Amino acid sequence: MTAVVRFDHVSKTYPGGVRAVEDVDLTLGRGELVAVVGPSGSGKSSLLNLMGTLDRPTTGRVLVDGHDTAALSDREVSALRARRIGFVFQQFHLAVGVPVLDAVADGLLYAGVPLRRRRDEAEEVLTRVGLAARVGHLPHQLSGGERQRAAVARAVVGGPALLLADEPTGNLDSASGTAVLELLRELHASGTTVVVITHDREIAASLPRRIEMKDGRMTTDTGPPPPPGPASAGIPTTGARAEAGR
Ligand code: ADP
Ligand code: MG
Repeated sequence: MTAVVRFDHVSKTYPGGVRAVEDVDLTLGRGELVAVVGPSGSGKSSLLNLMGTLDRPTTGRVLVDGHDTAALSDREVSALRARRIGFVFQQFHLAVGVPVLDAVADGLLYAGVPLRRRRDEAEEVLTRVGLAARVGHLPHQLSGGERQRAAVARAVVGGPALLLADEPTGNLDSASGTAVLELLRELHASGTTVVVITHDREIAASLPRRIEMKDGRMTTDTGPPPPPGPASAGIPTTGARAEAGR
């Protein structure tokens, strides 16, 4: 089956010479739930931006849904991103004065969905994240936790194959953080591949796969979990379990 994301010796050096990502090999299968951990400045966000095609590698190849992104034009990459990838960041920058329903519906603009259907789908995902009663609210009328749930709604409104979350609970109190994480788990359970950067060791340890970054290198990848069911008992995990342990 085609991997959702594949990195083939991927490095990213920023102008000025910072080597943010160095020689990372990685395959994310459909339906995985992955934590990315590591100290500040270790390259986590850079890694996520490469996965999300927000940035291109300096060397190496990034494949999304089997498409080699280097072979695509900027326009084609944007289209791939709009259809297949959703993002959640630490801060959800909602436009002032735009009701939540429209902010979420705008997530479908690039997909070319007509307004009426954008609104219907936005309402559906807002209900799914527990904000049915807030669709007409303005951003300043929401709590931090509600805003982040709206951000998740916007990220998943088009039904992306891949959801990338960069410290989505970083600015939340622990109850709201838990609720957002529960939401990510539910999306994963319904088939979305989810990658979440987190500082929270407990969260990271509770997820099926963990990737650790240090100085731009992937120092640990616990690999995909074994397939569920008694039939799999005793069968070794497929895929490399890289424990470079630097
Ligand atoms: P993390 O998310 O783990 O904190 P980042 O991926 O944001 O790490 O950053 C990795 C390194 O790359 C850091 O040294 C950071 O300063 C640098 N960096 C990140 N983004 C840029 C950029 N746009 N231009 C130059 N350097 C950058
Ligand atoms: Mg970061």
